[in-house]
Amino acid sequence: MPAATARYLKLNDKDNVAVVTNDGGLAAGSRFADGLELVEAVPQAHKVALVDIGKDQPIVRYGVPIGYAVDNIPRGSWVSERRMRMPEPPNLDALRAGLDAFVPYRKETTPLSGYTFEGYRNPDGSVGTRNLLAISTTVQCAAPLARIAAERIRAELLPRYPNVDGVIAIEHVYGCGVAIDAPDAHIPIRSLQNIAKNPNFGALPLLVSLGCEKLTPERFFPDGSIPESPLTRAGEPHVVSLQNESLDGFEGMIAAIMTAAEKRLALLNERRRETVPASELVLGLQCGGSDAFSGAAANPAVGIAADMIVRAGGTVFFSENTEVRDGIGQLLKKAASREVATGLLDAMAWYDAYLARGGADRSANTTPGNKKGGLNNIVEKSMGSIAKSGSMPISGVFGTGEKIPVGAKGLFFVATPASDIVCGPSQVAAGMNIMVFVTGRGTPYGLAEVPVIKVVTRSELAKRWHDLVDVNAGRIVTGESTIPETGEEIFQTILDVASGRKSKAEERGIHNYMAVFNPAPIT
Ligand code: CA
Repeated sequence: MPAATARYLKLNDKDNVAVVTNDGGLAAGSRFADGLELVEAVPQAHKVALVDIGKDQPIVRYGVPIGYAVDNIPRGSWVSERRMRMPEPPNLDALRAGLDAFVPYRKETTPLSGYTFEGYRNPDGSVGTRNLLAISTTVQCAAPLARIAAERIRAELLPRYPNVDGVIAIEHVYGCGVAIDAPDAHIPIRSLQNIAKNPNFGALPLLVSLGCEKLTPERFFPDGSIPESPLTRAGEPHVVSLQNESLDGFEGMIAAIMTAAEKRLALLNERRRETVPASELVLGLQCGGSDAFSGAAANPAVGIAADMIVRAGGTVFFSENTEVRDGIGQLLKKAASREVATGLLDAMAWYDAYLARGGADRSANTTPGNKKGGLNNIVEKSMGSIAKSGSMPISGVFGTGEKIPVGAKGLFFVATPASDIVCGPSQVAAGMNIMVFVTGRGTPYGLAEVPVIKVVTRSELAKRWHDLVDVNAGRIVTGESTIPETGEEIFQTILDVASGRKSKAEERGIHNYMAVFNPAPIT
């Protein structure tokens, strides 16, 4: 039976398709308020043709062609993946040549003042949103001991240091059996170095090493890279090496890690939250398990929150190379300088070459779940993905694993793979102290290092995953909220969680691995 309240969402006046918003989709014969009638069933989040679209004509969403019709598509039809052909990616060389006429993007905005959160000030000027002891590892071989030690520290020591939020072992697969001098090896190495310096760790690093690995402690923390603290002034070592001949068996190794940990816990325990301006936020943005509503409602709302943080003088960055590749033309128009525009093109070109080495291209990005959620291809996914970066000028470009300098304010691009599991560690390395993660199909994603606020695109998912979701942007789709209202709700949630309120992922103890990106060879 046709639904009485058939609804669709059209984003741009130029669009010749719109997205069905009704939970469960719509049956053939359903009629919209404007008289459009479905000639066949259309699932929720999938596209309906608003007009007759002729063979080879563009299918327009977000005001841009997201594909071309393989055959005639009558008005009221389901515009499914098999009915469209993907456009070619924007030509980077042509865009580079076009930079001769480059005009820097400027935006007049009113600064946002008076917003604060409760954070932990660090010696390097950064501010943490959590007070964590992080145990880094030089190599996977040492990771099991670091993990077991962390479990013991949590059970036996942490109750005596109530101002410390937690103890984490940073496990990863790098460190040995790697071509450590290969051209791209600096990417995983700097990722691990910078993860250890995340503002949530209070500048008191502890490193567990095996003793024979390629990524040696000296290479992990070169001279001068350990911040000054009472421990460094006392000449306290920051490395526990498991092959050290003075350590007696497994229990000796665990005891050595726990002794070094307790000195740090005592110092971390002295720290207190203090009121700091919202300009101390470093917000990382990510998507995972996206659907057609990600770009239509949730990501634009996140973009509003991102704009608010930049207007408050804070730092925001977005990532995910393959999800911005097809929107590179739009991003270039937002570059604050020609240098930034060149940096964006260089990042895209590097990633194109990386994918080509593996016989792939950006079309390998979309997942079966994306497609089930109405995202037919990477062009459509990209147009939605870039909406979360908001409307401010892009003021800088950083590579995977690179750290955004403390005090650098504004909107930045950190060029990472789009994989949630590989992007997250690079965002931790970039120095984020809070993350907003948008999901449509649903992923329980979380990080132990940095609180992750999850925003979902659909009310049905918000209900089903009530104990995993922080903000329901599906209320935009159903007309119960607006994009600016949900944007402000996300901004307020960021301030609350930054101040110590647990995100849903933290409440459940959900955290993904630090799977650092290693484009270099393994031996
Ligand atoms: Ca992702």
